[in-house]
Amino acid sequence: MIRYHARWVLPISRPPISDSTVVEHDGRIAYVGERSGAPDGTDVDLGDAALMPGLVNAHTHLELTVMRGFLEDLDFRSWIFRLTRARREALAPEALLDSARFGIAEGLLAGITTYADTNDSGAPFRAMLDMGVRGISYQEVFGPDPAQCAESLAGLRAKVDALRREATPLVRAGVSPHAPYSVCDALFEGTAAFAIQDGLPVAVHIAESADESSLVQHALGGWADSHRSRGIDVVPRADSPIRLLERVGVLDARPLLIHCVRVDGGDVGAIARHDCAIAHCPASNAKLGHGIAPLTEFLRAGIRVGIGSDSVASNNRMDLLDEARLAILMQRARTAQFNVITAGEALEVATLGGARALDLESEIGSLDVGKSADLAAFPLDAPRSAPVYDPASALVFAASGRMASFVAVAGRPLVRDSRLVGPAANVPSLESAARALAEWSASARR
Ligand SMILES: [Zn+2]
Repeated sequence: MIRYHARWVLPISRPPISDSTVVEHDGRIAYVGERSGAPDGTDVDLGDAALMPGLVNAHTHLELTVMRGFLEDLDFRSWIFRLTRARREALAPEALLDSARFGIAEGLLAGITTYADTNDSGAPFRAMLDMGVRGISYQEVFGPDPAQCAESLAGLRAKVDALRREATPLVRAGVSPHAPYSVCDALFEGTAAFAIQDGLPVAVHIAESADESSLVQHALGGWADSHRSRGIDVVPRADSPIRLLERVGVLDARPLLIHCVRVDGGDVGAIARHDCAIAHCPASNAKLGHGIAPLTEFLRAGIRVGIGSDSVASNNRMDLLDEARLAILMQRARTAQFNVITAGEALEVATLGGARALDLESEIGSLDVGKSADLAAFPLDAPRSAPVYDPASALVFAASGRMASFVAVAGRPLVRDSRLVGPAANVPSLESAARALAEWSASARR
């Protein structure tokens, strides 16, 4: 038994409690409440800090950490093309693994214990296993050309089979048909059927850019032109990206829908009706110039919503408290309402909301007896955050951007005294991978 004491405990499932204790036993939460009532055990005093459930990052591309700052101020299609080419031509598998591990180090120091990562290489799956964190690695599948569909599906099955053989209670495999501009209808249908049959979690990038909507609704725009130039037939596919996913059966797999910037009332209704979840990525959506997703409408409709950082190639940081702050500020600016989404509600989205979005709420997302001891503590005594009248407001509005002082996953400490420890301590250097990217960039320009 370990008794973690802190000035504030935020269980999320109930209001914050001051001068309290969380007891961990065999990786699970055995007690949450006043110090005087805690069962006997070894004491760890976290001091003037807020102890809460580990944050759940509902959307990452961990292997792209080395591309932080590498793709600035590009239009979305150029951004994707350059990202894809650079990854393929300049980054070896070891570089992608180092990049993913570096990303998890960043996330852990920001109190993130769970990662929902979409990738093709499998490097983030390996990195999550190595560093002791929790997560789902969604194996991406691509193929805008229906002629490639059978081959893409066979490749997906083989990759998912390999991942499933190495899955653990902490790290699982899912599938991700990438996006409407990179996946044809037949491949969406085949991937959804595979996922439903095998009980695999699904994630899909959807309703992100204006160009994507234009492709889906009108068969026009940059994506439509580039498909036609490759000899791919392009026709209008649905009234909206969400209705496309409904028509091809993807919504029946209860997917995690990443972005959902360009959605109308009918789309929100379809998402709720099919009990799909949303990964809300306010910073990435803003930085790439896509817009502001209607988070308040999602929450009002009872949709399961988590907060995602997206890759640092479009953010450029992984800090979920900061992301929660941005989520609130953008919704208040968008709606011109002073009380839309409170700090407490945003913290719930960043923890229990993310857990629900990933179907992990029976295991993580709140400090409740019996759940896994996935914990994060943030110091609140520095000039940046003191004084504290309400710990949720202090954490989200003032302390965001500060390092976590303590983090554990399933009871195993990965951050102590703001330092990575245990399996998380071995953080690789990104120097050689970054040099490879810089050299690629110089040669590609020539
Ligand atoms: Zn993404």
